[in-house]
Parts: sequence; structure tokens; C-alpha cells
Amino acid sequence: MPVSQSQSVFEKLKASGFRLTKTRKDLVEFILAHRGHWTIQSLAAEVQEKIKGVGVATIYRTVSLLQRQNFLTETQMRDGGARYEVASKAHHDHFVCLRCQRIFEFENDKIETLQKEVAKKLGFTLLDHRMELYGECNRAGCKPKN
Ligand SMILES: [Zn+2]
Ligand SMILES: [Zn+2]
Repeated sequence: MPVSQSQSVFEKLKASGFRLTKTRKDLVEFILAHRGHWTIQSLAAEVQEKIKGVGVATIYRTVSLLQRQNFLTETQMRDGGARYEVASKAHHDHFVCLRCQRIFEFENDKIETLQKEVAKKLGFTLLDHRMELYGECNRAGCKPKN
């Protein structure tokens, strides 16, 4: 991620009372450079291999802080778990495969417009939304993950 962008992330974290040590800066940069839709468990395993001296509790706390500050978005899985992704992309919604757990991104103008129309009818100002559609993907290699 560009230096200027990570600087503004650091500013925001500091403002919320997060103590920024060198290790935590490395951690934040590592998280924000992490591509795809990942679980906190897989992230923690990678972090602990690459950055020395980071406790699991710190990793969980940092992810939750970054999410609250909208630097990460969360996708709810059916089993109660969550996947995270860096919120650098434009808005999109997700199909979640219940068999292989893969996540497919999509964006559909009609759906977006329809949501705004429904909100308007209800006299509701729509600020944000999250859509997760669950099913089975039928891609090669789609089989239950455990
Ligand atoms: Zn699948
Ligand atoms: Zn996504």
C-alpha cells in the first residue's frame, strides 16, 4: 500500500488510542496488503510466521479495530465465522459457496437501484448495505472444506 495511505491509517488508529509500536505498524501494513477474502485464523498463522513477537490477541484486536474504522469489511459465513477483506475496492456484493467456502464477488446495477427504490418507498435513507448470497458454486474442485 502507498506510504501516504498507510500514514493516514496510522493517524486514525493513533487518534482512537491505539498504541503504535514498530511491530504493530508492521502488523497493520501486513494486514492491509493481504489480498482476497481471508479468515482471521489464516491471517494470524501467516503473521506469526513473518512478524516476530505478535500475540494472537493483538492480531484479533487490530483486525477488529481496522474493521470498525472501515479499513476492512467483513463477510459473514453461514457457520458463524467471518471472512475479511481490505476495503480498498469499489462496493460489491458476495456469493458464498457453502461447500468449498469460496467467495465470488459481483456487482449489479439493477440490484443497487432497486434497493434505493425500496428504501425511498419506506422513507428510509440508505447509507450502506451488505449482501451475502449463499449457495453451491459447481466450480472445479468444489468440495466440502474441513
Ligand atoms: Zn464451491
Ligand atoms: Zn469481496
